[in-house]
Amino acid sequence: MAPQESSDQALNQIEQMDQKHVFGTWSYQSEVEPTQIVEANGVRFTDSRENTVIDFSGQLMCLNLGHSAERVEDAVTQQVSEAEYVSPSYTTEARAKLGKKLADVTPGNLTKTFFSTSGTEANEAAIKIARFYTGKEKILSRYRSYHGATYGSISVTGDPRRLASEPGIPGTIKAPDPYAYGSTLDPMESLDYIDEMLALEGDTVAAVLVEPIVGSNGILVPPDEYLPRLKEIAHDHGALLICDEVMAGFGRTGEWFGSDVFDVTPDIMTMAKGLTSAYQPLGATIVTDEIADHFEDNMLTHGHTYAGHPVACAAGLAAIKTYEEENLIERAADIGRYLEDRIEDLADSHPSVGDTRGVGLFRGIELTQHPERREPFGEREDKVSKGSTVLDEVTATAYDEGAYVANMINTLIIAPPLTITEDEIDEAIAALDSGLSVSDNAMSR
Ligand code: PMP
Repeated sequence: MAPQESSDQALNQIEQMDQKHVFGTWSYQSEVEPTQIVEANGVRFTDSRENTVIDFSGQLMCLNLGHSAERVEDAVTQQVSEAEYVSPSYTTEARAKLGKKLADVTPGNLTKTFFSTSGTEANEAAIKIARFYTGKEKILSRYRSYHGATYGSISVTGDPRRLASEPGIPGTIKAPDPYAYGSTLDPMESLDYIDEMLALEGDTVAAVLVEPIVGSNGILVPPDEYLPRLKEIAHDHGALLICDEVMAGFGRTGEWFGSDVFDVTPDIMTMAKGLTSAYQPLGATIVTDEIADHFEDNMLTHGHTYAGHPVACAAGLAAIKTYEEENLIERAADIGRYLEDRIEDLADSHPSVGDTRGVGLFRGIELTQHPERREPFGEREDKVSKGSTVLDEVTATAYDEGAYVANMINTLIIAPPLTITEDEIDEAIAALDSGLSVSDNAMSR
């Protein structure tokens, strides 16, 4: 059974305790039926009902090294025994070295990092830094985006998850997206809107904030010229470009960052998830040397008790060393091509597959109940972060057959650990093949 699907089997003691005492996220609490994970190794995990499945989405698209990265586990243990915590006014070898390493692996002159504990907080810091640096207030983001859950980052989020928290913080504006399959607007033409919006807003926009490749809103890969042109447009209007790399970063795309796919250096880049391969909660906001210089004599009025937490930084450093020394970025590009071919096979044999998109090991399968009309399987109005019930049934069937696949907004999101093998991909694709017969049968004819 897929997590959070109703189950015929009773919840065990742990699951019952959790259901009673722990809030589920983004859910009606009465519908949450927690599934206990009892073991996780490599690309697989096992639940309390003894289902062992391939983690084809790396949980929340974050376990880039899979479930047993020994180097990261050892770094965490060692750091806990050396210095488990120090205040952000002190440093540690782990923090300083991770700051330097991020300057090395990110593109261009990105040089100085503010550390936090999540993608949400990384974006909060980016919003504040852009506002302080430019002296302007507004942030332009796009409708099909997710940037986090707290008030600032949910306000710049474009998808329906923002609605319950509106009106949110002042000064946020939303633009159209490069969504070739689901919109009548050509992706490059959508940039003309952004250009015009920035002109009409006058000189009041601090930054344009985008996921270079949109993640949970459907793995939207823009044309090659899109991101470079967006940077030019932003700069023409005196706005910074912020790239949210929380999901696309750290090898997922077969490059270090989504921005690298398009050869663009943003002014600010935000990261989390793959930064530690989710072994520790860590967010990071890196800025160019110009922006860093500005704060030499201007206070950066922002901070957290856990900023630069030594154990999280040690995990980040070890994760990056693993990506480097095991050549996992190149591997993701290579095996990503194999994954692409297998997904194309699925698309050929399942009429309910409307579109397939992605790069590297970051891929989406958008389902449709009517291919000519590109009609989605009705979104569930009450479940903002999930797709339709048909997609729930697809993923539940795939889970029963041996693969966990995340399902968001009419799209199946495939983002396995970068260590996955061809055989493991074949296994997961076979499970998905069974799942997709459910959506084929649910099509409107
Ligand atoms: N930005 C993007 C692109 C994300 O995918 C997410 C999380 N899915 C976030 C920000 C928020 O990160 P977190 O959940 O760690 O706060």
